[in-house]
Amino acid sequence: MNLPSGAKEDPPNRISGSLKFGCGQANELLISSLWPDMTHDTWRDWKWQMAHTLTSVESLSVILNLKPHQVARYKRLIDIYHYAITPYYFSLIDWTDPEDPVRKQSIPDLKELEVEIVGNNDPLDEEKDMPVPGLVHRYPDRVLAVVTNMCSMYCRHCTRKRIWGSGDEGTVTTKELAAMIHYIRKSPEVREVVVSGGDPLMVNLDLLDWFLGELGLISHVEVIRIGTRVPVVLPMKVTDELVSMLATHRPLWINTQFNHPREITPEAREACDRILRAGIPVSNQSVLMRGINDSPEVMKDLCHALQRIMVRPYYLFQCDPVRGVEHFRTSVWKGMEIIEKMRGYTGGLCIPTFVVDAPGGGGKIPLQPFYMLSATDRDILLRNYEGMIIKYFNPQDTDIPALRKSGGNGRDEAVPRVLNEQAVPSLPKETSRYRRRMKKNLSPLYKGDM
Ligand SMILES: *Cc1c(COP(=O)(O)O)cnc(C)c1O
Ligand code: SF4
Repeated sequence: MNLPSGAKEDPPNRISGSLKFGCGQANELLISSLWPDMTHDTWRDWKWQMAHTLTSVESLSVILNLKPHQVARYKRLIDIYHYAITPYYFSLIDWTDPEDPVRKQSIPDLKELEVEIVGNNDPLDEEKDMPVPGLVHRYPDRVLAVVTNMCSMYCRHCTRKRIWGSGDEGTVTTKELAAMIHYIRKSPEVREVVVSGGDPLMVNLDLLDWFLGELGLISHVEVIRIGTRVPVVLPMKVTDELVSMLATHRPLWINTQFNHPREITPEAREACDRILRAGIPVSNQSVLMRGINDSPEVMKDLCHALQRIMVRPYYLFQCDPVRGVEHFRTSVWKGMEIIEKMRGYTGGLCIPTFVVDAPGGGGKIPLQPFYMLSATDRDILLRNYEGMIIKYFNPQDTDIPALRKSGGNGRDEAVPRVLNEQAVPSLPKETSRYRRRMKKNLSPLYKGDM
């Protein structure tokens, strides 16, 4: 295996299995009964892995040792939310651990049906922000292109669970891709295209190559980003052929999704290393999930392990209120606690930004522990990670009108003035809220009247 220079071997307990076929603990018997034709070579062949992906209720019945009356319930479950696990990812399950984090992300759970009434199919209102089918234009300078509904594994916590079962599974048509390209070409404000899915690395290589190439020809598209879980769930798919194609489309960034340190296996590390050596930076977006990684210790282990394989922790996502996912959700305080317990204690390069994707199409909102305790126009009161409280003298050259009026001499404190409504807080204009208030002849300052 090729380690990034200076990379340290993981401590053995962080690497899942490796006994015979890179398999996990305790389930070798199960693996050889599910895939009797498996050999060392087939195991490393992504086509074999794909062809032997578990998808049927029969396989689930064998794995979970289901009784006949249970089979029907699981059948109903996987009719609603597809089930697919690659042999590789399956091999990482530790069946001796009832709380196994790999199992929870991949094996269907009847809890998904129990919580069916909670949550939404499209909590982020993505469909309302689509100028053309499959293209979400929510932020000023970037778009997100859903190029396929297919994944090599279907994560039980997926935000886009709704698009798995829609019947039109598969790659978006070339015509739809062309419509996306057309829109992007006509939108000079778009400087970054996030290619997403599903998993874009499941798309036929020639088609993906063509799509990325078309984007590259648009002069205002400066950067392309691909979101993929292939390095985590099917690392053998990261072949030299794939990587050399991707390398022709730089500047290209890859975002992947490791959620637990046990997923960082020698195979996953090798896949990331291959991408990195092609000059493509790899970042990570984890989803915060109950019973999987909702502890500062697990998250710190994960982020340290990511940093060792030179993958940069980018986001930690609050789990979206998606139908069938409620059992994974945690309080936002948990995410803030995790960041609180990392910031200052460990290197900033392995600390992700904790974000909530706001319902109603509000987009990603970062949540940070509170480090500013109070402020006046002259001083701010800060605390550091250890709880040290610091008065910090703030320079007086301010553009905030309320402060200019006060002369910035510190006598006329801004915070009390705002509270007394003597000064108008800075309010963004040209928002629909602002226009609505103007139309009704209301003051732009909210006074509890609308
Ligand atoms: C997440 C996301 C992006 C990218 O946002 P970043 O903060 O740049 O990572 C773009 N478009 C949509 C619709 C998204 O959900
Ligand atoms: S790889 Fe991504 S899109 Fe696919 S099921 Fe998992 S979370 Fe959803």
